[in-house]
Amino acid sequence: MAYSYDESNIFAKIIRGEIPNQTVLETEHCLAFNDIAPQAPVHVLVIPKGPYVNWDHFVAEASAEEIADFARATRAVIEKLGLEPGSGGQGYRLIMNSGEAGVQEVPHFHAHILSGRVLGRMLPKD
Ligand code: AMP
Repeated sequence: MAYSYDESNIFAKIIRGEIPNQTVLETEHCLAFNDIAPQAPVHVLVIPKGPYVNWDHFVAEASAEEIADFARATRAVIEKLGLEPGSGGQGYRLIMNSGEAGVQEVPHFHAHILSGRVLGRMLPKD
């Protein structure tokens, strides 16, 4: 599979520092920042700094170091915000949208971390 990355997407501009973001956490390979249109009281996006379109592209072509850093950065946000269930936190939902069926709007791979209220069923029934 040949993946095509659009350097003009909004998250690429955030990584290049061309537009501002509300950073929650930064690691060598990742950036976590608040979503501009939060769907819950806590809505943080975690992105790799590398040019990956979606989860598939990321897992297929990122280095083991980048993949491990992404997993640990996501976990570090959860820990920093005190969300871990069993450790006093109320839990969270982790979402990665991919492609048309997933309704992915920004073509730079990202995970959503949602929390701050009981989020309800995972999907509407229709
Ligand atoms: P997705 O539909 O999974 O591609 O989600 C893209 C997310 O990026 C949405 O939740 C948007 O609200 C969010 N978003 C778009 N532009 C920005 C921005 N400049 N800063 C922070 N979040 C953004």
